[in-house]
Amino acid sequence: MATAAKATRDRAAGRRRGATRSAAEAAARRAVIETALAMSRSGLSPGRSGNVSCRLGDAMLVTPTGMAYEALAPEDIVHVGLDGSVADGQRKPSSEWRFHLAAYRVRPAIGAVVHTHSLHATVLACAHRPIPAFHYMVAVAGGNDIPLVPYATFGTEELSRHVAAGLAERNAILMANHGQIAVGPTLATALELAHEVEVLAEQYYKVLTLGRPVVLPDDEMRLMLEKFASYGQKAQG
Ligand SMILES: [Zn+2]
Repeated sequence: MATAAKATRDRAAGRRRGATRSAAEAAARRAVIETALAMSRSGLSPGRSGNVSCRLGDAMLVTPTGMAYEALAPEDIVHVGLDGSVADGQRKPSSEWRFHLAAYRVRPAIGAVVHTHSLHATVLACAHRPIPAFHYMVAVAGGNDIPLVPYATFGTEELSRHVAAGLAERNAILMANHGQIAVGPTLATALELAHEVEVLAEQYYKVLTLGRPVVLPDDEMRLMLEKFASYGQKAQG
């Protein structure tokens, strides 16, 4: 009974928080749900894998653990302070919330994180095969490869440290024996990058079946990075 009483108190606290929420937070909560649904519908997160977050001031909004995306309502999205604090009266955040937090800390300019176990990215990650510059589009991740960060148990500080080290240098990484993470200024850009990583992973996997990939030289990849940066400015302007 004590548990039921606590649940009632928690729901009341959740409603009070909800009442004081800003319009920006309400919109961000809806956007997190829309992004999670889009990720799921596109087949990017088989078996309900994956999670989504966005930055909100000095906090993040992240999908909860153990809920189907179709069942999510705005109040189910969990508000986590960038100091790791989770206010009472909320659902439990995704078990992988720590590496989302690590991403926002290491990259102050990013606004969103998308994590999935998308098929081909995960296949490469399980074979410990980072993606080299086999195609010029690899530059979308912000460098001349899509690196692989070492394995650690999900939900741990150790995994967060690996993720932070990888994302310090790139906008997308493979996670050994696990999946991929893509970040961006917005939820839409992070999701788009996660798609791109999966496409590149599938292409690279197929190239590997033919033999040795032909890797583009660093000079060419530097040129690609410059071109991508100027396209980005045009898209924003
Ligand atoms: Zn995962």
